[in-house]
Amino acid sequence: MSMTDQLSNEIEALEAAARAAEAQHEFIEEIAYPAGVQMAVNFTCDFDAMLLRRVLNEPPMQLAQGEFGGRVGIWRLLELFNGHGVKTTVFTPGRICELYPKAVAAVAQSGHEVADHMWEHQVPKDLQLEADHLRKSTQALEATAGIRPVGSRSWHTQSLLLEEGYIYNSHGTAHHLPYYVRDRDGENCLLNLPFHFAIDDAMFFSFAWLASGNGAQRITEPGRVMELWWDAFLQQYRQGGYLNICLHPFVSGRALRIEMLDRLITRMKSMPGVWFPSCEEMARHCLAKHPPSAPLGEK
Ligand SMILES: [Zn+2]
Repeated sequence: MSMTDQLSNEIEALEAAARAAEAQHEFIEEIAYPAGVQMAVNFTCDFDAMLLRRVLNEPPMQLAQGEFGGRVGIWRLLELFNGHGVKTTVFTPGRICELYPKAVAAVAQSGHEVADHMWEHQVPKDLQLEADHLRKSTQALEATAGIRPVGSRSWHTQSLLLEEGYIYNSHGTAHHLPYYVRDRDGENCLLNLPFHFAIDDAMFFSFAWLASGNGAQRITEPGRVMELWWDAFLQQYRQGGYLNICLHPFVSGRALRIEMLDRLITRMKSMPGVWFPSCEEMARHCLAKHPPSAPLGEK
């Protein structure tokens, strides 16, 4: 094969891949918010405690960081959000219900949303085992929070999420507004509430994150992160957009960061028309106002 043929084959393959990815996504041009609302901010908490660190076989000091999240961090965040009347969505692995049942129950009792974050922070490759994990997580969250979860932040197979009654995932980053994703066969449509790493606390504050080497250690000044997130907020505010800020109780539950979040929320609330729904409320709003071209779960 000549170089030119090879190149044109590669370009064709790339174009086919781009078309396939395009067919899997359905975007919402502009969110029609309720009257008086300029933009929505979802504060989401990934309540992993020490589970992710166990999965990664990290040393005891790192496990203890996660423990702080379950013992102190989650309670501080709850107090912060309750004090501001801001709804949060807590994505938590099913197994956290065994470790910190009181915290998971308190989240729901305070009117916040409890959502799935996999059974033990990983999705098994075997589809049957995966289905079993999702069922176990869903049941554990329902039993502990008293409400069946409808949202997930996970790598779970969309058909399984839909079978279990989930209406959204909050995992992708393909757009800054909520959008619909179908699986590779163009089926099993599910809403995605996007977040991204620049609005994820762990990227700025997590020391010894994911067993990283010395070069990857981060302990950023909270004031700097506050300015970055404020800029992200303002840019989205001007265009009636959306922001999904991802916090981890073992990271943001530390006193200096709670203080920063308090200032950030106070500043956001000083602007007219900022809506702080739970992810479920945001998802139901999108499904009602901007339904996908075919109902969830269908082609
Ligand atoms: Zn997590």
